[in-house]
Amino acid sequence: MFKRRISKSQYMMGLQCLKRIWLYNYRKDLIGPVPEDKQLRFDEGHLVGELARRYFKGGKLIGFNYTRLREAIEETARLIKNGSKIIYEGAFVFNDVLIRADILKKNKDNSWNLIEVKSTTSVKDIHAYDTAIQKYVLEGLGFKIKAVKMMYINNKFIKNGEINSKDFFTLETITEPANTHLKEVKKNLRKFMKTLSNKKEPKMEIGRHCASPYECEFREHCWKDIPDYSIYDFPHLCWQKINELEELGIMKIKDIPDDFPLSPWQQLFLKAEKTNKRIIDTGSISDFIKELKYPLYFIDFETIMPSLPLYNGSRPYQQIVFQVSLHIQNKAGGELKHLEYLGDGKNDPRPMLVKFMLKHIKAKGSLVAYNASFEKTRIKEMAREFPKYAKDLLKMKDRMADIMKPFQKRKYIDPRFRGSYSLKKVLPALVPAMTYKGLDIGDGGEAQTAYLNMLSGKLSAGETKKLRKDLKIYCGQDTLAMVEILKSLYKSA
Ligand code: SF4
Repeated sequence: MFKRRISKSQYMMGLQCLKRIWLYNYRKDLIGPVPEDKQLRFDEGHLVGELARRYFKGGKLIGFNYTRLREAIEETARLIKNGSKIIYEGAFVFNDVLIRADILKKNKDNSWNLIEVKSTTSVKDIHAYDTAIQKYVLEGLGFKIKAVKMMYINNKFIKNGEINSKDFFTLETITEPANTHLKEVKKNLRKFMKTLSNKKEPKMEIGRHCASPYECEFREHCWKDIPDYSIYDFPHLCWQKINELEELGIMKIKDIPDDFPLSPWQQLFLKAEKTNKRIIDTGSISDFIKELKYPLYFIDFETIMPSLPLYNGSRPYQQIVFQVSLHIQNKAGGELKHLEYLGDGKNDPRPMLVKFMLKHIKAKGSLVAYNASFEKTRIKEMAREFPKYAKDLLKMKDRMADIMKPFQKRKYIDPRFRGSYSLKKVLPALVPAMTYKGLDIGDGGEAQTAYLNMLSGKLSAGETKKLRKDLKIYCGQDTLAMVEILKSLYKSA
């Protein structure tokens, strides 16, 4: 029988997929390094955890990390024995299951409340499972757990000076859902222990569960035999249809039978794949071009979305625009002027950014963005937060055109897009000379990480200078890409 402990995170892994918990125990070597953006999210999560402790003041923190678990368990037991009423990060083991409880608070009747802190903005089903395993351990050790509570971020919170944890968090009781899942815990643990007792890697089909509820770290290993471009990449194909294709032994998109039930645009997509030819609805493309009014302002924003709001007036997870790139063109095929604004990495970037936009975007002409709803929403938010400029900003918003639309609505299908309509896929197909490969910042996520790093104040002057340069190259490429894509659309109309 398996003789090691399993932790709460492993329990959650097992619920997602038995193979995941097995691989985690026997093939940790398959896990790659933690990506920088994920690490930043972890760090932010720790800050949220620290703030949560201020909600229940006066507790004792069990500081030992996973390398010193024995000490953490002993210290927890000692504090409880000595009458501590609030414990943060308490470590407990029962029946070879290890948990760290975010907050435990003792009630007057000697029962305890278990409080689980999450950086989410609502309670999710999965949280009942997460707390049930903790309740199982604590009750197994003889604690009376009166209530199970979730403490999550109040998305209505608006920062005004120092963040007060009582306003920042919402506390919700989930004792009942946790109890419902508690009934399953023993059975699940038996199943997981049995799986882990076997030295042979379990067989498990790949599927939707590989990304839900969490992105699995073993995806590369389990998906290694799946062709690079397969039925799993077919746009908007539901899992039921994917399963039907699997049963037919079909993996490649090109092998999907012509009479396989698909929506009209999916059929067009399949036809483009099989013939390896573009399918273009020229009428729709010229209608899109006719909507554009010169001068054109090709515009792109980069944003961060911190869980802990940085600036007064902003909310948790609000997208804060820190950079804008503008390519301006007065007539079709005319010369280009490039302008940009990038925040200083210290102060709220938006007031200066708004002034930059108002200065350089004149009263006439379309603002062209890729996935314009994103830019529109950001402009609307800035209009709300900087009422002095609201009228002008809202007028700008109403002049926006979305150059993604022809691709999103599948009026322009190219097999080289590989089923996607993202800028990163469309650009190299239409403009092979332009690519994001080789850029030190190559997507919005990396831009966000770069700016958060700048904000951390931990970078040297040289590192900051380099990141600023990379950010400008990246955001500038996004707007230049739209110019080139429009050129390509003109040729197809
Ligand atoms: S990639 Fe999918 S099948 Fe493989 S371990 Fe993860 S969840 Fe399971």
